[in-house]
Amino acid sequence: MSATRWLAEYAWLPEEAEPTPDVLIETVHDRITGVTPLAPDGRPDAGVDVLADAVRLPGLTLPGLANAHSHAFHRALRGRTHSGRGDFWSWRDQMYAVATRLDPDSYLALARAVYAEMALSGVTGVGEFHYLHHGPDGTPYADPNAMGVALVEAAAQAGIRLTLLDTCYLTASVDGRPLTGPQQRFGDGDALRWAERLDAFTPDGGHVRLGAAIHSVRAVPAEQLATVAGWAQRRDAPLHVHLSEQPAENDACRAVHGCTPTRLLADHGVLGRATTAVHATHPTSADVGLLGDSRTGVCLCPTTERDLADGIGPARRMADAGIPLSLGSDSHAVIDLFEEARAVELDERLRTRKRGHFTPAELLTAASSAGHAALGWTDAGRIAVGDRADLVTVRLDSVRTAGVTPAGVWFAAGAADVAQVVVDGQVLVRDGRHVRVDVPQELATAIAEVTTP
Ligand SMILES: [Zn+2]
Repeated sequence: MSATRWLAEYAWLPEEAEPTPDVLIETVHDRITGVTPLAPDGRPDAGVDVLADAVRLPGLTLPGLANAHSHAFHRALRGRTHSGRGDFWSWRDQMYAVATRLDPDSYLALARAVYAEMALSGVTGVGEFHYLHHGPDGTPYADPNAMGVALVEAAAQAGIRLTLLDTCYLTASVDGRPLTGPQQRFGDGDALRWAERLDAFTPDGGHVRLGAAIHSVRAVPAEQLATVAGWAQRRDAPLHVHLSEQPAENDACRAVHGCTPTRLLADHGVLGRATTAVHATHPTSADVGLLGDSRTGVCLCPTTERDLADGIGPARRMADAGIPLSLGSDSHAVIDLFEEARAVELDERLRTRKRGHFTPAELLTAASSAGHAALGWTDAGRIAVGDRADLVTVRLDSVRTAGVTPAGVWFAAGAADVAQVVVDGQVLVRDGRHVRVDVPQELATAIAEVTTP
């Protein structure tokens, strides 16, 4: 089945404020080759009936969604850390306990299930911010990229594309304390050795590309930031970095370096169009200017930021400064890009006590083309000729979406309303079920494996 005609009841086309009814979408192999709105006469050309063999897509068809920030193993913590008091830092201790349990086999099983859960929610590409590199005591595996290999294989088996953002993680604090305990497996010693390991990694498959990440200004000493940024520039690869998720990071950076984390990254050549700052929850006005002027992207992760009591980032102010916004489910307290997208708008409402900050089309862009672009897939995330054949069809007849106008899905739909997902021309989710992974069963088994004492 290489050439297919799809007839979407509604499709959300690029630059459109709302969905278009009755759109014929033609795909050949992994590409979109035709996009033809049929209204008002219902045919692309009078007298030519090309619709007889078209696959009907009832509901609203969106481009493939991008989950631009993921730590797959955090999924094992869902529903286990949500009672009692605490903050980001106490949650992190629980997260480290799971990290200690993983090896390449158990990580493959867990990540395969997590990426399949993402597929069910309409995600066709994920950015995995990956720092579990070595054995639990820091000793490299026989293949020092064995954990990365497991993630690449997991994405292949789950059927989605992956940007493996291999993360440089060297120190435990801004003032350079060494990694100890569960953090030891994150470290390569220094940025040059991190780059050497990554240069030796040639992952298999057209579904994957390599990117780089700086864990944060806590984890990479200032004088080594340029080494990581230089690797990404040489490889024309995306570069991601956690930025100002917590006020404590800003305070520590000011104390050690006399400037904000954003300023430190700017001074060491980390910012730019290929760079995505993750969170940016607590930037100063000057920081927003630095990010905007350099066209650095920001990946917002609102469901994680609220779960971890991080705060609310200045999303509208950042968008107005020219910063492309993307979305990530990060700790996977929730895997639902509809929820992430509407949270961007709804959090602004809570802060400002005013409605209407982002249009539905802006939320779609953040959840699709901007996210794929942040991961280096500039040919994904739009229903347009030449783009990858990713089609995500959302039911408009579910208990949540019945009676909703198609553009209203961003405020009404959830991951459970995704009926069908096509990735690179292949049907991956049909009638709300993954075609080859029993997702709940595999999640339960894989999570039990890494959490049972
Ligand atoms: Zn993160």
